Amino acid sequence: MKRTDLIPVVILLPLLGFVAAQVTETTHPAPEPRVSAVPVEAHAEAGRLGIARHMAEAAHLAPAPTPAAATDATHDLGDVRQRLAVGSAGTYINEILVERDSALARWPDRTSQPVKVWIGSGTGIKGWSDTFPARVRDAFEEWSDLGIPVRFEFVTDSLDADVHVVWIDHFDTPISGKTLWARDRSWWIVNANITLALHHNAGEALDDSSVKAIALHEVGHLLGLDHTSDTTDIMTARVRVRDLSNADRATMKLLYSLPPGSIRQGK
Ligand SMILES: [Zn+2]
Repeated sequence: MKRTDLIPVVILLPLLGFVAAQVTETTHPAPEPRVSAVPVEAHAEAGRLGIARHMAEAAHLAPAPTPAAATDATHDLGDVRQRLAVGSAGTYINEILVERDSALARWPDRTSQPVKVWIGSGTGIKGWSDTFPARVRDAFEEWSDLGIPVRFEFVTDSLDADVHVVWIDHFDTPISGKTLWARDRSWWIVNANITLALHHNAGEALDDSSVKAIALHEVGHLLGLDHTSDTTDIMTARVRVRDLSNADRATMKLLYSLPPGSIRQGK
């Protein structure tokens, strides 16, 4: 096996461990009015309230070249740490660093060459609505409109896409969305795929606003965010809100102001 093939295997395992650990540690939330109206992500124990947890994990490694403009081999760790220290207030960037073993992953600048997104159809799956793809597009654009250097272009040819969004009836585990992304060895994300369910695995159907909220969460992962413990954020493991919070916005902006890679010395 080539060295490049090993990278995603190494990071897949701890992330799976993280997901498993969180299932056992999370207690039942007190249902909030907005939550019960917008069930999005939840654990199995959350029963009828919940929709899903997701897994965000690095999958296969795409042999994409590292952008020449900013390799992490040259970034100044001291400078990055300083910028983190100054910019982390009001964000959950430190939780992400813990979850990611002190490394940040993000897309390179894709303003002039937008990330091509193909959104599939769930026609034929019970519970499908022709309005769902528009909600997913809304989610991509809401994150992009924060001013991060990533634009999205929605394409009709899946072969031409960097990102694929597909639909299933339900997951066999208590999740309602799943994001898989791949990075190169410099921690630049190079492609990603999102799977969205139309039903919680307990059977509850998702409506338009739930699909939008799940999509916001999964696109957050696609762009490099991980979970926060604050349940008022869209990036909490069990989504309870419909919109991005100030912390969601601030964390994404901070992530895209920093180079990707480990902030540890010697890594
Ligand atoms: Zn998630």
